[in-house]
Amino acid sequence: VAGGRRSTAGPRRAARKVSVGAMSNSRTNAPFSHAIRRIASRHRLTLEGCWLSPEAVPSGVPPWQERLFLPGPTPVPWSIAHAMARPMTSLGGPALRGLVERVETGVARMFGTQRAVGLSGSGTATLEAAVQGAFAPGDPVLAVVAGAFGARFARVAEAHGLTVHRLEVAYGEVPTAEAVAARVARTGAVGLLLTHNETSTGLLMPIADWIAAARKVAPDVVTVVDAISSVPSVPLDMDAIGVDIATAASQKGFMAPPGLGLVGVGPRGLAALKAERAGRMYFDLTAYIERHHNATPAVAHWFAMDESLRLLDAEGDAARHERHVRMGVMVRAAGRAMGCPPLAREDMASPTVTVLGLPDGVDARAVLAHAAERYGATLAGAMGPWAHSAVRIGHVGAYTPLDMVTAVAALEAAVHDLCAKAGKAPPMPAGHGVAAALEAMREPVAAHTTV
Ligand SMILES: *Cc1c(COP(=O)(O)O)cnc(C)c1O
Repeated sequence: VAGGRRSTAGPRRAARKVSVGAMSNSRTNAPFSHAIRRIASRHRLTLEGCWLSPEAVPSGVPPWQERLFLPGPTPVPWSIAHAMARPMTSLGGPALRGLVERVETGVARMFGTQRAVGLSGSGTATLEAAVQGAFAPGDPVLAVVAGAFGARFARVAEAHGLTVHRLEVAYGEVPTAEAVAARVARTGAVGLLLTHNETSTGLLMPIADWIAAARKVAPDVVTVVDAISSVPSVPLDMDAIGVDIATAASQKGFMAPPGLGLVGVGPRGLAALKAERAGRMYFDLTAYIERHHNATPAVAHWFAMDESLRLLDAEGDAARHERHVRMGVMVRAAGRAMGCPPLAREDMASPTVTVLGLPDGVDARAVLAHAAERYGATLAGAMGPWAHSAVRIGHVGAYTPLDMVTAVAALEAAVHDLCAKAGKAPPMPAGHGVAAALEAMREPVAAHTTV
C-alpha cells in the first residue's frame, strides 16, 4: 500500500478513496489479487488502477481473452508457442547447431548485414553487450536522447564507464542531421548511440541521415543502434546506411516471448568488438560470433525463433512492412477522429507504436484501468512527460489491421465511459474512431518514408 497512509486508515475509520497501485502480474494470479483486495477492504481503501484477477472483474472478461496492445511483450502465434514445447536437445548436437546457424542467418538478413548472434536476456542486455564490447571505459560517445529509450541507452553507456555526451530533445522532437554531426565533431565522439524507433514517443528516427552526416565529420565513428522495436517489422538495412551494430529482442517484432536478445554485427562493428576489453565474460559478443553461444543457450527460445523466421518469411518482407505501416495509419486516423490525436509528427510516425493524447480531464491511468477491467484490453501507458495525458497502442509483431479495430474500439469505449462518469461531453460522438480505423484498413497504404 503506497504512501505510508496505512497507519491512519484503520478499520474503524470512515471510508476514503486512496489511489493504490496494486499489480497482479497475470490474470491467473487470483489468490494474490484476492489477498490485496481483502486487505484493502479491511482498511476501507478503494483500489484504483489495478490489474485484477478475472474473478474480480465485474464485467466478467474471461481470463483467456485478455488482449495485449503493447509494444512488447506482444501476442505469440500458436505455432511459435508450440515450437517452444519441443523436447530439449544437446547443446553440441547437430540438430541445435544447425538450427542456431539457420536462425542467425535469418536474423542477420532481417538486420541487413552478414552476421547476427543471439544471447539470453532482454533487449537491454543486448545494449549492454554492444556498449561493453565496442567501447572502452572513458571513450567519448554521443547518445541521441529523444525519449525514454534513448535515455536508457545513454544510462547503459554511463554504467560501463563511457564518457557520454547527450544530444537531448523534448518528447516528440527529432534532432536534425546537422545537429548530430555538429555534436559528434565538437565532442570527438568515437561512438554514436541511436534509437531507431523511439518506443516512448512513437517516432521512427531518421538514423540514415544522422549517420551520413556524422560520418562526414567523423568517418570512423562506430554506430550502435537500438532497433529493438523496429527490426524486423520496419526495414533496417545496416550495411547500406552504415550501422555497425544493431540490436533487437524476441518479444517485439519477432513475435516470441521475452528472453532472447539479438545483435546484428556489420564489418566495422566486428572490428570494434575484437579489440581487447577487460571485464567481458557472459556478454562477450566475440564468443557468440566465434562459437554461437557462450553458456547454455535458451534452447526453447531458439526453437521459437526458428518458427518465427519461418512465419516472417512466409509473409514476406514487403507485406510485413506494409502491414505495420497500415496499422500505424489506422490507429492515427482513429485517434484523430475520436478526439485523441496522435502526438508524433506524421512524416516520422512509427509503424510499430502510436501515442494518442487524451481529451482534457481524462486521466491516462483511469483509461488504462478501465479498458483492462471493463473490456479486457491492455493498452500501454505513455511515458515521461506524456504519462498522464496520453496512452500508447502497440502494433508490433503478430498484430493485424483487424486487431487495431479492437484496440481503438477499447480506447474509444473507455474514453466515452469515463466522460459519462464525469458528466462531461465526449470529444466526438461514439464510433467515429472505429469508423476511421475501418476506412484506413480498406484503403491502399501510401508509401511511407523509412530508412
Ligand atoms: C522494449 C525496448 C527496449 C527494452 O527492451 P527490454 O527487452 O525490455 O530490455 C529498449 N529499447 C526500445 C526502443 C524498446 O522498444
